[in-house]
Amino acid sequence: MQTPARSQSFCVFSKLRSVGLRPTRQRVALCNLMFGRGDRHLSAEDLHAEAQDAGESVSLATVYNTLHQFTDAGLVRPLSAEGQRTYFDTNASDHHHFFIEDDGEMVDIPAGALDLGQLPEPPEGMEIVNVDIVVRLRRKPTA
Ligand SMILES: [Zn+2]
Repeated sequence: MQTPARSQSFCVFSKLRSVGLRPTRQRVALCNLMFGRGDRHLSAEDLHAEAQDAGESVSLATVYNTLHQFTDAGLVRPLSAEGQRTYFDTNASDHHHFFIEDDGEMVDIPAGALDLGQLPEPPEGMEIVNVDIVVRLRRKPTA
């Protein structure tokens, strides 16, 4: 797969260098796959499969390591649905998700569509860092 020069430099400069990650060939390739198509929620396995389809020879372990480096650098946000694999969100800002159990797919809940109401008072000496809501969905049975 040919990667356009524009998105190469986007990953090198706007993503990797801006957070102090050296733009190695594999990091740039994985960054392009993740960020080249808008906001996405990918598991390490999904990204590994895309890398292989793109002719990039990279091990699943390297994909995991790279995703954890991206996470530590704040480029992506890990999301877990109970009992499911971890998904990595290319939109690292605070937002909530639907999880479609039938498809194993995470979908953004539109901003403002979820009323959190009253949050519990955290225990003494604690503060709330953020609130991650995952609303699990399944298709209604057809009558
Ligand atoms: Zn999201």
